[in-house]
Amino acid sequence: MLSKILRCAFCLVFLSLAAASAAAAAEPGKLLAGTGKVDITDYSAGPANDPMFVKAIVIKDDSQTAVLISVDAVAIGELGRVKDDYLPTVRKRLEAELGIPPTGVLANASHCHGVILPDITDQTVQAVKQAVSQLTPVTIGAGRGSEDRIMENRRLKLKNGKEVDVRHAYSLPPDEEIAGVAPTDPEIGVVRLNRENGETLAVIYNFACHPIQGVPSGANTADIIGYSSKVIEENLSDGTLAMFLQGCAGDINPAYYKDVDHPRSAEPLGNLLGLSVLKAVRQIECQPDDRLMMFNQSLTLPRSDLADRIAELDAEEKLLLSKLRGTTLNFKTFLALTVKYKLSPDFPSHYSHRYFYDEAQEKADLKTLDAQNKRDMQAYLQNVFVMEQLTRLQTNRALLRKHQQKMIDSGKRTIDVELVGLRIGDFVMVTFPGELTSPIGMNIKRKSPHDLTFVAGYTNGYIYYCPTVEQMQNRGGAQEDSDCLLAPEWQEIFESTAAEMLKKL
Ligand SMILES: [Zn+2]
Repeated sequence: MLSKILRCAFCLVFLSLAAASAAAAAEPGKLLAGTGKVDITDYSAGPANDPMFVKAIVIKDDSQTAVLISVDAVAIGELGRVKDDYLPTVRKRLEAELGIPPTGVLANASHCHGVILPDITDQTVQAVKQAVSQLTPVTIGAGRGSEDRIMENRRLKLKNGKEVDVRHAYSLPPDEEIAGVAPTDPEIGVVRLNRENGETLAVIYNFACHPIQGVPSGANTADIIGYSSKVIEENLSDGTLAMFLQGCAGDINPAYYKDVDHPRSAEPLGNLLGLSVLKAVRQIECQPDDRLMMFNQSLTLPRSDLADRIAELDAEEKLLLSKLRGTTLNFKTFLALTVKYKLSPDFPSHYSHRYFYDEAQEKADLKTLDAQNKRDMQAYLQNVFVMEQLTRLQTNRALLRKHQQKMIDSGKRTIDVELVGLRIGDFVMVTFPGELTSPIGMNIKRKSPHDLTFVAGYTNGYIYYCPTVEQMQNRGGAQEDSDCLLAPEWQEIFESTAAEMLKKL
């Protein structure tokens, strides 16, 4: 019933391709395109390792204009420095100053966690104006690349049937409790735009990975995407713009995200991604092609009432607390004993000859001491595991409480989102404003009638994590299922809407 009501809301489809008053007219059979790029790094926020950018690609035929904007920021609104009024303000200004209709604007956040200027509206409009002022006839091509070395699925399957995720916010469970890992999507979607003289004007690439590895100095950074885009731009024609559109990265981390033995660095990961994009770019032949389509669709999704799950977690917390037991050890004695008992499991407490003397005298004093120490160490370790479990529970329950409060404050059991359908030549894309997890992207691609179908999250808004129904059964166990406001029905609603949108593209 709920989904029926919601489906009615989908009927509101805006075909957004509208005439832009901007500049040049396209030749029949060919598109015009231009690029712009403006630095948005907040240099007053501390040292910057590399710049963050807002980038724009404007693509146009004689009747329609599509504005693609990528921002090296965590989200388009809701989180971080990009405020909720950013996209509406940018749209208003692009309409007033360039005659570009609001529905022709797509803005994707790379989801890097760099610190950008408090307001990037001017810089965004400036990037689009640069692009419009440089519109030039282009040939286009699309293809796919592959990269599987730089990321890992952060959700781990536990032997007890639950899942945990790999975060810095809390510890992982003991290795013995891990049963397996989940898949990643290695596919890179690529569009190449060439000038008429054969030089590359721009590359658009779509891939799924949280760009949150950081750099060894800890300085401000655009992370993996800063490096990958730089590699692409430096190895194609002068002035090439590489635009990244973040994919379904909700459950995808950089590889070795929790490394504590080496300085964590986004650079090698970004370089590998950039090289894989370049490999795909070289295989793409650009042709005259005037297929350009972009439309918006509003969608109403159901929110979850999280009260019951929060109450269950409260009970679970009580149970865990009751398992904490006093032991004679503290961290200092526990650590010293652990080293001794690992170093010499048979004779941990003294040289072996004292054990032999004990034996000769038919005594077991040292062995009795060892047995007691082992029991105490095990009890102390058990407390540590309970404590780690509590840190996971409390962190994820705090997310559930936050979303429950937001639901109550909103006074609504639904949330409205904006989707975009985009075609550039053979490249087809559907966008969504949340952190879609990788199975959702792979589902949409698999069911699409188009060979080169891609999905971008983090676009035209932000509604936190959007996991699958199955992942949601683990609510409270991992960030993706806890930092989430949606009810499980959302997945079918979105995936079927995406399928309908793909049919229109
Ligand atoms: Zn995220």
